[in-house]
Amino acid sequence: MTTGAAARFVEQMDLLIRARYPVLYVVTHEEARLESLLADLARRQGKPLSVWTATRGLAVSQGARSAEAPRPVTAAEVLDRIRSQEGAGLFLLRDLHAFFEDPLVVRRLRDLAGTLEDTRRSVVISAPRLTLPPELEKDVTVLDLPLPEPDELRALLRSLCEQLHDDDPKRVQIGREDAEALVRAAQGLTLAEAENAFARAAVTDGALRGVDVALVLAEKCQAIRKSGMLEFHPAETTLADVGGLVRLKDWLRRRGKALDTGAREFGLPPARGVLLLGAPGCGKSLTAKVVANAWKIPLLHLDLGRVFSGLLGSSEENMRRALRVADGVAPAVLWIDEIEKGLAGGTGRSGEMDGGTAQRVFGSLLTWMSEQTSGVFVVATANRIESLPPELLRRGRFDEVFFVDLPDTEARAEILAIHLRRRGRDPAGFDLVTLAEKCAGFSGAEIEHCVVEGLYAAFDLGHALTTEDLARAIAETTPLSVTSAEEIERMRTWASSRARPADAPRRSPTGPALPLVRPRPAPPRGPRSGGRV
Ligand code: ATP
Repeated sequence: MTTGAAARFVEQMDLLIRARYPVLYVVTHEEARLESLLADLARRQGKPLSVWTATRGLAVSQGARSAEAPRPVTAAEVLDRIRSQEGAGLFLLRDLHAFFEDPLVVRRLRDLAGTLEDTRRSVVISAPRLTLPPELEKDVTVLDLPLPEPDELRALLRSLCEQLHDDDPKRVQIGREDAEALVRAAQGLTLAEAENAFARAAVTDGALRGVDVALVLAEKCQAIRKSGMLEFHPAETTLADVGGLVRLKDWLRRRGKALDTGAREFGLPPARGVLLLGAPGCGKSLTAKVVANAWKIPLLHLDLGRVFSGLLGSSEENMRRALRVADGVAPAVLWIDEIEKGLAGGTGRSGEMDGGTAQRVFGSLLTWMSEQTSGVFVVATANRIESLPPELLRRGRFDEVFFVDLPDTEARAEILAIHLRRRGRDPAGFDLVTLAEKCAGFSGAEIEHCVVEGLYAAFDLGHALTTEDLARAIAETTPLSVTSAEEIERMRTWASSRARPADAPRRSPTGPALPLVRPRPAPPRGPRSGGRV
């Protein structure tokens, strides 16, 4: 039985074919799954399904597999043959895109599209990526075969368990919860990949067990990495690893709580994402990593540099593929760092900036963000915020836009404590109040740097780390708030009317607010050129 996204895909194909769209192009790696869905559809429409590959020719499909054809048939030949055939039919042409460099194949396909419009014959091209010459853009309709939804994976796992159980009941050692965890782990894999992952897990130690989730996840890491644009990040950090940012953390906690289905019944929309703007090194990326862990869902990092690199295919196609995988893995956090780079575009293989392409690719990302319902939560970060376009900040894209400023005194003390603890030191042994005041204007990354520098110094001197080591490291560090003071101030002004502060003001009621920039000693006086002495 076909359910969920696959069923919707078949419905859409059915409609298009009945509306006499002559050539459909399905982007998928799952040839066998597509063929079996099309076989069902052809049966429903009362037409035969024929399948062509360059190596095995054209043959009538027999369920998921085609009969061996007697000889190879070229792309040009198969298009001529379909054109001259009579009656109804559905023709699945595998990898026809590989022949689009031949102008005669392109011309023949255009001719064929023209003649098919008045017939009950349709052509479906299947290919793992979208490669469409401009001549064909108006004749061909493109669809994605969605990755299998949990129901399909559940059915697959059930049938594998039945087979294993028939073989030997001891080979199935999973309960309902384990089965659900395995299905969740397999989300984002193609059906064939999931089948391989489950089967491999079952043969590794002779039985399918709950612990095999790790094996299936490892398989998924591989599959995601192969997609080229996305990276699967292990969940290692927790909300306790983030100092300050109290408003942001509280907002995330509430959104996380509303992830379950109870929230939908309560009338809450699914969370879409958050945009984090602000100075470098203040914990934006750290927060993205933490969210996935706190919500116990996978973290996918979208590498915009690779999307635009030109090394792995067209940028548009790269973005499509990446978003499709993210949809398949959902629920998941999709982390896009330095999203402003996506707007500027990348440097293509030719070495030129492709601004138009960047706009299109970015537009497709924005549309996907507005429309996606798969459960992907986007965490986007940006450093150069003045250049962000208004459409990115429009309601409906992100649930909230936060400005992540340099940490205040309390946050700096928390960050110091976090990084001391992370390196096996008890924060209670240090004068954190004094140190936090000394490092006014430092980012979280700079505070971490001072802890590491202090450790180096203590190790070199052969004593345990002290407050003085840390104070010296702080004094020797020039923070970005000094070197880029104007830029940071500009960012604050820009964000004040456009974003919510990520941290709550928690300055001590008695003491004055700390200055952004540490007071520096006045420069030594001396003769100045150009002025009156
Ligand atoms: P960039 O825009 O340059 O990537 P960012 O704001 O994303 O900067 P992070 O990459 O999150 O900054 O920070 C770098 C490192 O600094 C973190 O991995 C973490 O170790 C430390 N750090 C920064 N901010 C904090 C914080 N608020 N709490 C604890 N550690 C922090």
